[in-house]
Amino acid sequence: MFEINRNFSNSPEQMEFALRVSTILKNKYSQKPRALVITYGCQQNVSDSERLKGMLSLMGYDFTETPDEADLILYNTCAVRGHAEDRVYGNVGAMKHYKRRNPDMILAVCGCMAQQDIVVKRFRTSYPYVNLVFGTQVQHRLPEFIYRCLSGERVYETTLDNGEIIEDVPLRRDGTLKGWLPVMYGCNNFCTYCIVPYVRGRERSRKPEEIINEAKEMVSSGFKEITLLGQNVNSYGKGLDKQINFAELLREINAIDGDFRIRFMTSHPKDCTLELLDAIKDCEKVVKHLHLPFQSGSDRILKAMNRHYDSASYLKLIDAARERMPDIAITSDIIVGFPGETYEDFSKTVELVKKVKFTSLFTFIFSPRNGTPAADMEDPVSREEKGRWFSELLKVQETITANNLKVMVGKQYRVLCDGQSEREGYLLGHTDGNVSVEFEGDLSLVGKLCQVRIDSYSNVLTGTLV
Ligand code: SF4
Repeated sequence: MFEINRNFSNSPEQMEFALRVSTILKNKYSQKPRALVITYGCQQNVSDSERLKGMLSLMGYDFTETPDEADLILYNTCAVRGHAEDRVYGNVGAMKHYKRRNPDMILAVCGCMAQQDIVVKRFRTSYPYVNLVFGTQVQHRLPEFIYRCLSGERVYETTLDNGEIIEDVPLRRDGTLKGWLPVMYGCNNFCTYCIVPYVRGRERSRKPEEIINEAKEMVSSGFKEITLLGQNVNSYGKGLDKQINFAELLREINAIDGDFRIRFMTSHPKDCTLELLDAIKDCEKVVKHLHLPFQSGSDRILKAMNRHYDSASYLKLIDAARERMPDIAITSDIIVGFPGETYEDFSKTVELVKKVKFTSLFTFIFSPRNGTPAADMEDPVSREEKGRWFSELLKVQETITANNLKVMVGKQYRVLCDGQSEREGYLLGHTDGNVSVEFEGDLSLVGKLCQVRIDSYSNVLTGTLV
């Protein structure tokens, strides 16, 4: 855990609320009250939770992992798939008993799920013991919301005004080795299956100087891997006074002194430029790994998804990346069973997977999201049938992954040593492509970027420090 003292210099009223809350809590509790923050979903949510914990710590909360010790429980939710929401309703419902035992406990829900009117209405009517529901663009107002809850109010706040990004918000990072660095928020792409543009709002980029300063702070605090975050990092810079794009931002962060590496996610093929591929190649600190979701190999389905590229242009990008970096790791996301997809369409997805030979894939069966165009589309194929396609795709990728790992034997890779392996006398680390590697070495290497030559592959790669 790593805490960064920030004092809301951009939002003094929130600092004032934080001080009031900490005074109330000091008078109310004999020992430091404890908060439990439960995070669902993507890296952006994990990063947001680090800011939520930073603000709670500033207000005087300590932290716990168990509900019965908590004086405040905050769910930071995800809306990307239906079952994620069902789980939250179930888990929040289960808190009723803790609330009965500890009526002063503050029960709160935030994040993408909480940004939807239908969800706010449900919490307001069916969960009277939930004190606070707030959205994705007002998280920096948590001190004000806690103050209002402590004054007996039930608070529902989901303004989505795409306004200025509030900087200098207190931060409590979970790790000390790898850290998240958000560079932008929101998305303008409106892929027809995706809820993100409706719950995260329009694209807003952070000022480059804020990002550079935070990166320098992380490097000087010993972080070895910085992951730049955004729903679509490739469109970074739009709307900023200073003309800068993502490739230029990468070069600026790469110029920071220090022994660390830079990752970024998530890219969108329509905004992935040759300039960006050149920056990845030229910047020594940038991992030679491109996560480039293609979702479907069928141009008909890509059109229905409103993705703004076709399979040919996607393959051209992959070729351009490999021309520059023959050994680059490429990963992707795929949706199986998009409404109207036929087995013939699906076969084009499998074909593309066989052509590209991805390092690894994140595959999902289509999940309709209320409020998205795809949720109202004709969807004749059964869940069982989609499940069969899904298994077929996994099998194809399993073979490709195994072959890719065999090809790594004999080659040398940059590896971040994460810690001890379960295997006696071995350490475990990850390559730029996030592939696990075991190698012999002593614990002083933990947290270090090492060079490892791959000697063999069974279930995991085994190598030798060079
Ligand atoms: S690019 Fe598409 S899938 Fe990704 S967050 Fe934006 S709308 Fe969603």
